[in-house]
Amino acid sequence: MKIEVLRNVLQKNEWAAEENRACFDERGVTCVNLLGGAGCGKTSLLEATLPTLKENLRVAVLEGDLATTRDAERIAALDVPVVQLLTDGGCHLNATLVQQALKQIPLDELDLLVIENVGNPICPANFDLGEHRRVVVLSVAEGDDKPAKYPLLFKDADLIVLTKCDLLPYVKFDVERARADLARVNPRAEIVRTDTNTATGIDRLAAWLSATARPQASA
Ligand code: MG
Ligand code: ZN
Repeated sequence: MKIEVLRNVLQKNEWAAEENRACFDERGVTCVNLLGGAGCGKTSLLEATLPTLKENLRVAVLEGDLATTRDAERIAALDVPVVQLLTDGGCHLNATLVQQALKQIPLDELDLLVIENVGNPICPANFDLGEHRRVVVLSVAEGDDKPAKYPLLFKDADLIVLTKCDLLPYVKFDVERARADLARVNPRAEIVRTDTNTATGIDRLAAWLSATARPQASA
């Protein structure tokens, strides 16, 4: 009996990821993989930024979840094309699942595709989906020890978004300590502080996402 080891799974994933990336490149679509633990505020960030992104970019969202279409409904309410990818309990997206979902997405009509990964700070980070950029979300409610405890999540991030910063007076989260740990794990990622209640940092996030999409779209 053949036992498939994780190495093979990741190798297969890498092939599918390269195919996805080639597919995005051919069509001039920039793909962003949005990762973070459950409840860190990924969907809320999308809700806050999509109205601005929509003004200048053709954007769609691929929602990864274990169950329910709740997040997809929130995106659809903004009149943004969305496909819900249910993993039926699977704790991460992989490039093959994304490849299947891409059949439902009119890539020729897009500049930017955001993939909201399954809420999980661990294994989604191991699976390249074929994205061009990785955005990692950390809410201050999760605690400032998370960058040190989950370094793999942050290691390959191009942008790190601190969310729920309006809770800073109420939670144990030392921003400077988190910054120092993040700098050790990933010295190159920019860090943006946000809070969706007062829209703090949302303009900056929208500008970052727009800038990342434009060069591809005009290529
Ligand atoms: Mg969500
Ligand atoms: Zn997993």
